[in-house]
Amino acid sequence: MAEAIGVLGGTFDPVHFGHLRSALEVSEQLNLAHVRLIPSARPPHRNEPKANTQQRLMMLHLAMKNADGFIVDDRELNRDGVSYTVDTLISLREDFPDNPLYLLLGTDAFLGIQTWHQWQRLLDLAHIVVIRRPDESMTMSEELNTWHQQYLAVADDAQYLAGKIWPVTVTQLAISATAIRTAISAGQSPQFLLPDAAIQLINQLGLYRNND
Ligand code: ATP
Repeated sequence: MAEAIGVLGGTFDPVHFGHLRSALEVSEQLNLAHVRLIPSARPPHRNEPKANTQQRLMMLHLAMKNADGFIVDDRELNRDGVSYTVDTLISLREDFPDNPLYLLLGTDAFLGIQTWHQWQRLLDLAHIVVIRRPDESMTMSEELNTWHQQYLAVADDAQYLAGKIWPVTVTQLAISATAIRTAISAGQSPQFLLPDAAIQLINQLGLYRNND
């Protein structure tokens, strides 16, 4: 069977160890060949990122320079319009027709999935991995709970290219990009929350000093 591929989308404003450590642990637990980090150009559910697309992409490239098992994928940045995950998965499916795809989502993202564009198509295109995020309960609506139960994976389901929901527990790191931006704007050091190479670029470009 073709190698399994993980997909982690996000604003990465900036990328941090909460993203990377979770992606690594999911990758090891589900035997993924690599995880693609896909920065979002125009996320539909949130405010404009503070750093521009090129800066967020540069931080990712610098952060991942010596990391095996991760690929920075800029396909959303090359597309016009809002960045919908369903379109990203369609495009990945075209590139990887025979590979199991695993869409990695934090619990917060998963709990809001029913508001996503064409959310019910997501499982046609990929598996969904629910990464438990720090301090968050998994209180699902009745409809989401039914869907979750219906598609919950069992071990054998790794043979399929898509279609199952995989809850994965990872080391809980209560790091968020918001907290990093707030710390920087307050003149505090973000060291040990994200890769040094990303911090260097943040300092060089003076990113996040003004957090209005
Ligand atoms: P912000 O604070 O700006 O909202 P963020 O830190 O949540 O950003 P995103 O780039 O929006 O980061 O997140 C991308 C994905 O990574 C989402 O699925 C999110 O749930 C997940 N994620 C973010 N932080 C963590 C963390 N500390 N542990 C596990 N998953 C995380």
